[in-house]
Amino acid sequence: MRMPRLLAALGLAAAACGAQGAQTPPLRVVTLTTVLSEIAREVGGSHVSVVGLVQPGVDPHTFNPSPADIRAVADAEVVLASGLSLEAYLDRLVAGSGSSGRVVAVGDALPEAVAMAGVPGAGERDPHWWHSLDCMLIATDIVRAEFAKARPAAAADFSANAEAYQARLRGLKAWAAAEIGRLPPNRRHLVTSHDAFGYFARDYGFEVHAISGLSTDSEADARHLAGLIDLIRRERIPAVFAEDSANPRLVENLVRETGVRLGATLYADGLGPPGSGAETYDSMYRHNVRAIVDALSAR
Ligand SMILES: [Zn+2]
Repeated sequence: MRMPRLLAALGLAAAACGAQGAQTPPLRVVTLTTVLSEIAREVGGSHVSVVGLVQPGVDPHTFNPSPADIRAVADAEVVLASGLSLEAYLDRLVAGSGSSGRVVAVGDALPEAVAMAGVPGAGERDPHWWHSLDCMLIATDIVRAEFAKARPAAAADFSANAEAYQARLRGLKAWAAAEIGRLPPNRRHLVTSHDAFGYFARDYGFEVHAISGLSTDSEADARHLAGLIDLIRRERIPAVFAEDSANPRLVENLVRETGVRLGATLYADGLGPPGSGAETYDSMYRHNVRAIVDALSAR
């Protein structure tokens, strides 16, 4: 007699699950960077619908929301921003949309000890936290907690999804440390278009020499460029790097002036477009690490 009763109980439980699933529409999430879109989809699974406003290859520093973007924010229950002043338009966007959704600036919610410690320029709030895998691990937890608050019934699923994603991030972290370990410390100089790799540099012992500042819309002056040319010659830096969503003109200038090698284009401000081979966080990060190690280990 035990079996049928157990089966009946299981049947009831399944029916309850199904009924609840039908009653609860997916959590409406809007994200403002491609990396956050991935975290939201990985953690949320079938319990969320994610609309990413900033498309791959679009510069998030100078992004300008369209009327359709404003409507998406108006309709969102959770808005995920990178924070740390990356989205200069954020307050305007939220106010203009009249949204009553919860706005989470993930970078601002990272603990200072992990997010900022040892990052050059952190006093100016370097927003490029996703280049640190330690920050990514915590950002995943921040998103998980927000989703669990909004849909408590799905909290266990969010936890399981977050743990699976974090396990992959830890695997990536071990791979990156081994890969960069091949590069002698005196070769760890990153000359890039803008100052996007401070977190990466902190984690792996690089020095960053950016042409422009923390935002892509800051312009470099002639004296700064002359200083970079001197540095490349003095330190015998073998390669410099252009970036996916920044103008390569000044980097190409450095290449012409110094004869330095141009490394593969880095993804500084988000994931790559479909077909780029950098459309997921994992592939973007591996691309950057390989590009940097390959170009800087060349003789
Ligand atoms: Zn940037």
